[in-house]
Amino acid sequence: MKTPPGGPKESPDYSAFRRSLSREHAQLMESTCRNCRSFVAASVRPELLDFIENLHLCILRGQFPGKSVPTT
Ligand SMILES: [Zn+2]
Repeated sequence: MKTPPGGPKESPDYSAFRRSLSREHAQLMESTCRNCRSFVAASVRPELLDFIENLHLCILRGQFPGKSVPTT
């Protein structure tokens, strides 16, 4: 378990996304969806990650309760 240096406490709202600092760019934060495990965004601005994460329509997460997911 490693903690990002100087990183704020992770908000529960972001629990669906995993954020980690890029190895090549120390200032760059990468966000990955925990549910579908797809890369979502990378930015130096946390607020921009917030924005992009909100745009992520996860296929493995019930975005629209009440609608049943069609199975093939
Ligand atoms: Zn996802």
